[in-house]
Amino acid sequence: MNQYDVIVVGGGPAGTAAAVTAAKCGAKTLLVEKNGYVGGVSTAGLMTVWCGSSSSGFYRRVREATTEQRGSRWVYNPEMLKSCYLSMLEEAGVELLLHASFLRANRVGQHIESIDVLGAGEVLTLTAPVFIDATGDGYVAKDAGVSFIKGRESDHLMQPMSLMFTVGGVDETKAVYPTFGKYHELQAKMQEYVDSGKIDHPAGHVILIEGYIHGTASVNMTNLIRVDGTDVNDLTRAELLTRRQVPQIVRFLRECVPGYENCYLLQTADTIGVRETLHFEGEYRLNEQDILNQEIFHDWVVSNAAFNFGNHNLTGSGADKSNLHYSGQQYTIPYRSLLAKGLDNLLLAGRNISGTHMAHASYRVMPICMGMGEGAGVAAALAGTRGIALRAVNPKEIQEILMRDCGVSLPEKKQLK
Ligand SMILES: Cc1cc2nc3c(=O)[nH]c(=O)nc-3n(C[C@H](O)[C@H](O)[C@H](O)COP(=O)(O)OP(=O)(O)OC[C@H]3O[C@@H](n4cnc5c(N)ncnc54)[C@H](O)[C@@H]3O)c2cc1C
Repeated sequence: MNQYDVIVVGGGPAGTAAAVTAAKCGAKTLLVEKNGYVGGVSTAGLMTVWCGSSSSGFYRRVREATTEQRGSRWVYNPEMLKSCYLSMLEEAGVELLLHASFLRANRVGQHIESIDVLGAGEVLTLTAPVFIDATGDGYVAKDAGVSFIKGRESDHLMQPMSLMFTVGGVDETKAVYPTFGKYHELQAKMQEYVDSGKIDHPAGHVILIEGYIHGTASVNMTNLIRVDGTDVNDLTRAELLTRRQVPQIVRFLRECVPGYENCYLLQTADTIGVRETLHFEGEYRLNEQDILNQEIFHDWVVSNAAFNFGNHNLTGSGADKSNLHYSGQQYTIPYRSLLAKGLDNLLLAGRNISGTHMAHASYRVMPICMGMGEGAGVAAALAGTRGIALRAVNPKEIQEILMRDCGVSLPEKKQLK
């Protein structure tokens, strides 16, 4: 049986960053991914735009290799991103196990001894001293018994799901690219379509993004509320109901939106986009006040993270009214928020770290998740190659490596706008 220093489960933005970084730090690293390619929401979810920022060197390298500025946005081609991630993994020497779904964690006391994964109808047992859960939904942590809060603390509602799609045939000389709070007339028109039954509720907002390929646009307008991304029946329902909205929305674009008169459906995402599920208990739960205060934690592993509170409406369409006022603060994320409570060898990375519903609305974006992966990768490599517990890793050493070898910057208290 192969022996690894670090096993990363889930190859989204966080898991890919974690695996590349751990391997570059000298750890024999395996990345387990259920799809036939990596990238998670950034590829399978047909995402095309980086939101927010962090000083992650991994994010900077990916952005430089794949991204162009269109209007005010940094957009990329998800097909090119798939290749970019794979070449980074290969170059770093990460071993890959694709088409392999995490099944169970074999826990003894406070330690995960091994994990079982299902691939091609067979169960494989994989052993390592350190595991990183970057599955987005925290399947490893959940199975290993780490406690969690589902969604919003008050009512456990989670952010809506959306199936992303792209359209071609966009006339860029006339096209508009609305987001929340902009182009109110189009927003009202969309609501008319929903009210008259031409588009299924709870779709109802207009978000269009400049495509990486000229003449295309990315459409973030399907919407389903009161669904749970950790319930397979809800996931199935979400795929069906959002897919039903796609042709309805294309018709709306053709009939109502300047520049989209001749647009056509080009591609839909491979999978429904799940924004929020479980917030696990770590050694520290990052909260919204930490973000607003630009807290610089002594044990920071992500620096200069920045994004607004991007909660979509949990009970309808559009933005959630509970989003806090944000004026561009940069913040840090502590190592403690990545340390799964009650276990000595599991790190959390990506949208499943320890944080509140509101803090998650900010740190869930891809450049920040990549920063978490990078921090987790360094810590896991130090613990995995030295045979020490994750809690025994000195955060100052993680920070030194992040700054010296990964190109991460020292945290700064800077307002971005
Ligand atoms: C509709 C939508 C729009 C968004 N828009 C933007 C945007 O414009 N810009 C932005 O920056 N962010 C955006 N986000 C947020 C961002 O894309 C996600 O929060 C981010 O991708 C989370 O990264 P992650 O690595 O934690 O998880 P994910 O991207 O979810 O990756 C998790 C990975 O784990 C794998 N996995 C899951 N379960 C298993 C298992 N059992 N076994 C093996 N592998 C498994 C998955 O296949 C996947 O590859 C959006 C999210 C959604 C859903």
